[in-house]
Amino acid sequence: IKTIGVLTSGGDAPGMNAAIRAVVRTAISMGIKVKGIMRGYSGLLNEEIMDMSIRSVSEIIQRGGTILYTARCLEFKEMSGVMKGKEMCEKHGIDGLVVIGGDGSFRGAQDLSNVGVPCVGVPGTIDNDIACSEYTIGYDTAMNTAMEMVDKLRDTAHSHERCSVVEVMGRRAGHIALNTGIACGACVILVPEKPFDPQKDLLDRIRYSQSVGKRHFIVVVAEGVGSAGDIAGLIQNTLGIDSRTTVLGHVQRGGSPTLRDRVMATKMGYRAVELLSQNIGNRVVAIQKGELVDFEINEALAMQKTIDERLLNIGHAISI
Ligand code: ATP
Repeated sequence: IKTIGVLTSGGDAPGMNAAIRAVVRTAISMGIKVKGIMRGYSGLLNEEIMDMSIRSVSEIIQRGGTILYTARCLEFKEMSGVMKGKEMCEKHGIDGLVVIGGDGSFRGAQDLSNVGVPCVGVPGTIDNDIACSEYTIGYDTAMNTAMEMVDKLRDTAHSHERCSVVEVMGRRAGHIALNTGIACGACVILVPEKPFDPQKDLLDRIRYSQSVGKRHFIVVVAEGVGSAGDIAGLIQNTLGIDSRTTVLGHVQRGGSPTLRDRVMATKMGYRAVELLSQNIGNRVVAIQKGELVDFEINEALAMQKTIDERLLNIGHAISI
C-alpha cells in the first residue's frame, strides 16, 4: 500500500482529531502517504480530498470535533455511490481507507472493502454503542462533560430542595446515563436496556429516599428512555416535589478530549494503519478486555452489547 485516505463520518466525538493525527503520523512514519477526505463519504464522492503532512495534524490532539468535518451521505448507501467511491479512490491513488465513525460508517467501509478498497473502521462515537468494542472514542470525554453538568445542577437542586431530571445522550444505549448517574449520585438512573415501571422504579424510589431524609433528587435519564420532561412532570404531579428538566444535548459532543480518549484514539489510529500497511482491510479496530484487537466488519456488526447489569445493581443499592 502506498497511499491511504482517512475520513470521519456520522456523529462527531471528542478524540476524533487525535485519531486522525495518529493515522497520519503512523502512516508517514511507515513511508505511506496520507490523503485527508473532508465531510465523510460525501467528500470522497465530491473529491474534497487533500494531502496530509506531519504538520497538517499539529495542534489538534487536544481539540474536540474533527478537522476533517463530518457528514452523513445518503448517496453512499446505494451501490452506485459505493462504486463512485471506488472510482474516486482509484483516481486519487488511495489504496486503503481509515474510517473513523460509528456502525453506519462501518457499513459503508464494508461495502467499499467488498468492491476492492480495503477499509479499516475506528470506533468514534460518544455513545459507546459499538458492540465489538468495550470502548469508543469520545465516550470518556462525553461522560466527564455530563458529570460536570450534573454536578452543577446538583448544587442548585440542593439549594432549592428540588428534583433535577437530566437527559443525557446515548440514543438506544444507556452507558453514558449509567456511568454519569453513578458518578453524580443519582437516586434514579433510567436506561433504555431496562424497561422501567414508573411507580416502582421511579416514584417509590424517590419517596423512599425522601422518607430517609433526602431533600433533593437527581434523576438521570438516557435519551432512548423517553421524555425527561414527562418524567419530571410525573414526579412533580404525583409526589409534589418541585422538578426541573435539563436536556444536556450537544454540549456532550464537544470539548477537549480527556487523556483516556486521546490515548485510545492514538492506539486505535495506529492499529488501523498497521492493518492497512499489511494490506488487511474489511476490519474494525476494537478494545476487548482492555486489549487492542480487530474484527471483520461483518462479524463486528453482528455483535450485541449489553448494559453493565452489575453496575446498574450497584447504582440501585447505593442510591438511597
Ligand atoms: P453515529 O452513529 O455515531 O452517528 P454512524 O457512523 O453510525 O455514527 P450514520 O449516520 O449511521 O452514523 O452513518 C454515517 C454514514 O455512513 C452515512 O451517512 C452513510 O454515508 C454511510 N452509511 C451508513 N449506512 C450505510 C450502509 N448501509 N451502506 C453504506 N454506507 C452507509
